[in-house]
Amino acid sequence: MKLVLASNNAKKLLELQALFAPLGIELVTQGSLGIPEADEPFETFVENALAKARHAARLSGLPALADDSGLSVEALGGAPGVRSARYALDAGGEKSDAANNDRLLRQMAGVTDRRARFVCALVAVRSADDPEPLVAMGRWHGEILAAPRGEGGFGYDPLMHIPALGQTVASLGAEVKNRQSHRALAAVQLIQQFREVWHLG
Ligand code: IMP
Repeated sequence: MKLVLASNNAKKLLELQALFAPLGIELVTQGSLGIPEADEPFETFVENALAKARHAARLSGLPALADDSGLSVEALGGAPGVRSARYALDAGGEKSDAANNDRLLRQMAGVTDRRARFVCALVAVRSADDPEPLVAMGRWHGEILAAPRGEGGFGYDPLMHIPALGQTVASLGAEVKNRQSHRALAAVQLIQQFREVWHLG
């Protein structure tokens, strides 16, 4: 089965491809079909993911899968949250992982409660007007370090320390991240729903 992925993030594509391969799902990015990115105007991950999935299904005529994810920091009231990708841009900086991490470190200066979680909403629709979207959420808990550590991953990975593993996400191998991450946890739930509702696998 072919699913359009409502994202052009190559690293997300690789992570999700590995996660859904056992179900015989082939993911193609919306960019490879000439579909522009959808707006993400909403205040919740799930609403943004649904909007992105519907947009990709409408323009491709295919079933679609969308991921909306980000970092939720306890002491910042859930920020950067749905604004994770644009966190520095919102403050007049540039749209880059390095600038986002710099802003987060500045916001966290002197803050003792370092608890945070990565959050992922995965939504799949069979068509743009699918009345029964499949919705799955995953959360990965950790704490924000005072300085980046590790070279792998993307986004906030170098600042996110996972106490249970004793490492930052950027220091983990891709296979480990792919088993433990917020996206992996959401994918496990979505796989169950693909089996139950779409009769895949
Ligand atoms: P989205 O593409 O609108 O879902 O934005 C996701 C943003 O959240 C990314 O640009 C990253 O800043 C952050 N993010 C999401 N997942 C991860 C992850 O696995 N590691 C690090 N940062 C992440």
